[in-house]
Amino acid sequence: MFLNYDEVSEITAEYGSPVYVYSEEILRDRCRTLLEAFEGRIAPSFSVKANTNLSLLKIIREEGYGADAMSPGEIYLLEKAGFQSDEIFYIGNNVSEDEFRFCIDRDITVSVDSLSQLETYSRMNRGGCVAVRFNPGVGAGHCDKVITGGKKTKFGVEPKYCREVKEILEKYDMKLVGINQHIGSLFLAPASYAAAAANLLDMVAENFPGLEFVDFGGGFGVPYRPEEPRLDFAAARDALFPLLDDFTARYDNKFVHFKCEPGRFVCAECGALLGTVNAIKENYGETYVGTDIGFNVLMRPVLYGSYHEVEVISDRGGEEQSETKKVNVVGNICESGDIIAKERELPRVEEGDFIAVMNAGAYGYSMASNYNCRLRPAEVLKTLDGGFKLIRAADTFESLVENF
Ligand SMILES: *Cc1c(COP(=O)(O)O)cnc(C)c1O
Repeated sequence: MFLNYDEVSEITAEYGSPVYVYSEEILRDRCRTLLEAFEGRIAPSFSVKANTNLSLLKIIREEGYGADAMSPGEIYLLEKAGFQSDEIFYIGNNVSEDEFRFCIDRDITVSVDSLSQLETYSRMNRGGCVAVRFNPGVGAGHCDKVITGGKKTKFGVEPKYCREVKEILEKYDMKLVGINQHIGSLFLAPASYAAAAANLLDMVAENFPGLEFVDFGGGFGVPYRPEEPRLDFAAARDALFPLLDDFTARYDNKFVHFKCEPGRFVCAECGALLGTVNAIKENYGETYVGTDIGFNVLMRPVLYGSYHEVEVISDRGGEEQSETKKVNVVGNICESGDIIAKERELPRVEEGDFIAVMNAGAYGYSMASNYNCRLRPAEVLKTLDGGFKLIRAADTFESLVENF
């Protein structure tokens, strides 16, 4: 944990509880780890949906990343963070003509993910550029809901439609600049990623000469459980680089770029969600540690059954830390599914203690809601000099009514 008891007390006293805190040091470290792991051969674009905080986006841009957006709102935020049009890649699915227009007006490269969207976009942008998202039939991920490649997902164009893609491109005089895919989220072993990359490169080599880029997608995992290994980038290089060499040797455009789209890997580990224990009770043989961290603040456990490491932060001495007990850490939302950590072995907890939910920087705040009219929390950055900076204010009662 990158915060001690005094810092946690100070932050919650100043910015409220619950509150998201991010470590700039860890964020920059993860940005560099991935960038350096691929030795400049696969350029990363940050997948903004994982975390949309403007201050974090600025840091990620400073670290040399481009960005992938999935909605006009994300593009708007990226522009506010300083990203230029040519640094943004819009990966839409089932988008309206208005959204396509939004991208065309800004000269942002768009990826379409069906023949029907290719037709619509090409009609609107005749003579322009486009990328197509393919689904190579390989998927991976921690849970069915996040597997986005393979035969059972809504994403991408099936490779058997290559001919139809080419016909539409020709009909509207479009230039195909890139092919992209994204097989799913949170893998720690690179085998399926490399297999999908190999499929994609074969398909490109056979069908689509002259591309400017091939984008292999995101999904790089982080160890949410303490016993999990870290992603093996050496193995990823060993699996991917020969594919790139082989592809470049047989492809007509020697200057083709390779890209990837990490979201979680970049920002998960720099974020901790802090909350306060308000009540503790025993019911029918179970212990419930009742906190102010409802699932409106962190949806992953409820939505995906995800595991997050939980730490008890108190000012009591170390020896108590050794006596542990199995408890359920729950939130303050009126639903029985509102559980942060089920049957978790934790050190002694008392009312007034703080709870830190670790690895909460990705798909945490960006999925938060006002369910139960709970206010979304503040976000705070622990800067490189060790200070704390408010980077998004908490909601207020006024924010609950401003749209009525
Ligand atoms: C969500 C998403 C990503 C990022 O996934 P991570 O698992 O966070 O790395 C990348 N590309 C696309 C198209 C996505 O939808």
